[in-house]
Amino acid sequence: METKTALAGDRGEGGGRFRDRSEPAADPWSSVGDPARTLSDTTIDELRRAFDGALLRPGDDGYEDARRVWNGMVDRRPALIARCVGAADVVAALRTARDEGLEVSVRGGGHSIVGHAVTQGGVMIDLSLMRGVHVDPIRRRAWVQGGTLLRDVDRECALAGLVTTGGGVSHTGVGGLTLGGGYGYLARLYGLACDNLAAVEVVTASGELLRASPNENPDLFWAVRGGGGNFGVVTGFDFRLHPLPAGVLSVDLAFGVDDGLRALRGLVEVAAEAPEELVGSATIFTARPGGAMPEEQIGRPVVLVSYTYAGDPDAGRIHARRLRAAGTPLVEFDDVYSYRDLQRLGDESQRPGMRRYWKSHYVSAMTDGFLEAFLLRGTADPGAGNPGCSGSLFQLGGAIGRVGPDETAFSGRDAAFDFLSSADWEDAAEDAERLAAGRRYARAIEPYSTGRAYANGLEAETSPSVASAYGEATYRRLVAVKDRYDPDNVFHLNQNIAPSRTQATP
Ligand code: FAD
Repeated sequence: METKTALAGDRGEGGGRFRDRSEPAADPWSSVGDPARTLSDTTIDELRRAFDGALLRPGDDGYEDARRVWNGMVDRRPALIARCVGAADVVAALRTARDEGLEVSVRGGGHSIVGHAVTQGGVMIDLSLMRGVHVDPIRRRAWVQGGTLLRDVDRECALAGLVTTGGGVSHTGVGGLTLGGGYGYLARLYGLACDNLAAVEVVTASGELLRASPNENPDLFWAVRGGGGNFGVVTGFDFRLHPLPAGVLSVDLAFGVDDGLRALRGLVEVAAEAPEELVGSATIFTARPGGAMPEEQIGRPVVLVSYTYAGDPDAGRIHARRLRAAGTPLVEFDDVYSYRDLQRLGDESQRPGMRRYWKSHYVSAMTDGFLEAFLLRGTADPGAGNPGCSGSLFQLGGAIGRVGPDETAFSGRDAAFDFLSSADWEDAAEDAERLAAGRRYARAIEPYSTGRAYANGLEAETSPSVASAYGEATYRRLVAVKDRYDPDNVFHLNQNIAPSRTQATP
């Protein structure tokens, strides 16, 4: 039997080729920094007196690697990369950037889809040397540094038989993921990553080191749970932990597109009745050679309906019956993984360096109209499909929906699924068309969305805007917190909450 790892490769794109080629769209999300800016030796020497990590300027060993991020389209050159080893380094680097009038970017795991971790010509505050995790098994808490990757947390917590919610690819950063919300295979059971925060330690724009928790700076604590990196550099996260499931059942059934609607309806039914251990998902993609799909399916659309079940596998398997009713699956997988292995299944297909596009919309009404639009991928003919991009759905609800909409800044409490339009490719000559295909698909889904979107899957330049992605009331509250902690918008390389003083007056 094929393994699910092969399937993970299938879901990536790269097989489709466009007939027409146009010029690459050079870094469509570029930062506003000045690429010509440099820092003098005197400034660097002064900074070095207060800074224990590594300071890299263009031409230094390690600079080229350190400026690279997950999305291969992002090709920016900071004037300085400040590789911090602790909060004191963050304060020192921030002060230098502000004194020199340089743009600031903050790098956690470097997985922002649009490359927010890298400034062009400014100072990159790089947290990737800050990956310490300390687990307290008695209190069931983990203290996690700001540049930690999900895999670091999973590894250290598993030693104590514990876990907290992360995303589904182990090389993603805890920082950006948690600050935007953070959903994954355990989110319906244990809540979002941000719902598991007991406290954070933040370096604010003024260089102050603050704690935020329900009792300390509660406005800041509210905002960092969903509001992204807008309010400061989070140098430490205090997470609540839960029992690690003994294993996680993973079920996938692949169908041809003719059975697609029935398969998706089946998934919606399973999801509606699902216990919180179960997380449903669906993907539509074009099968490519070397994956797990049968030969005759190569180049044709495949609809994959899937779920994971973090509990007794036999209890979880019952739900597959409803999915099988859609027709004869092209292939079917039923595997039980350790949680850590499940987290690593997508690591290779989601490897850094490819050129990528992602765009999210929250969906709550899973109507046939929506499911048909999902299958069409922004084109008129589901059979031909759109090899330029794929679509996916990831189930939310459960423990996520039990947190009130105004308890945190996360805006997807009422969503049934997060939809994602995505594309990945290698040839820069395909940039313009791949971006256009991904955007077209996302636009076709927008009328079916709740009107809001996951901040971490948002392309700020296109609809919905950051304000609509959060909804009016939440956005207004976020602006008030921004006004208090970052009135000059020092931290603007993110899904930006513009402070009042920088907003245009009508
Ligand atoms: P970075 O690019 O380093 O940072 C992203 C943003 O957060 C930037 O604005 C940055 O300045 C800010 N930031 C990062 N760390 C800090 C910090 N410590 N303090 C202040 N600001 C900070 N999301 C999910 O919810 N679930 C998933 O399963 C999931 N899977 C993903 C898989 C892949 C392969 C990728 C690329 C993304 C995935 N995402 C998922 C989306 C992910 O949550 C975002 O891309 C997130 O921004 C990544 O965080 P990062 O720290 O790696 O990125």
